[in-house]
Amino acid sequence: MVTALVGRQAIVSLNRYLEKQKLAEQLPDVQRREELSYDTALTRLSKSVCPGCERPVDLKNTAIDFCPHCGIGLHDHCGHCSTRKSAFAKFCHACGTGAGQAAAVSRP
Ligand SMILES: [Zn+2]
Ligand SMILES: [Zn+2]
Repeated sequence: MVTALVGRQAIVSLNRYLEKQKLAEQLPDVQRREELSYDTALTRLSKSVCPGCERPVDLKNTAIDFCPHCGIGLHDHCGHCSTRKSAFAKFCHACGTGAGQAAAVSRP
């Protein structure tokens, strides 16, 4: 009886965890990137796992801009010089423009 109760409790908390995980994965990827700490993201990227879902991703494959498991953006392009860069980088490594800057500015 006690064992059954404990088992049930475990299933309930597992379901709650999965539900939370599911909700987190439904958030827009920009919002999810903002909720991740910069250092956490960098640590996970250095281990070749997705910062959003911690599943393995091939970060060296230049065709992959989004995590195939959870859809979070991994790479984007600098709004100033269009260099492909990590979506988690705060500045463009090629020209130093802050991420999220200049993208709205139309250039000739
Ligand atoms: Zn992911
Ligand atoms: Zn740039």
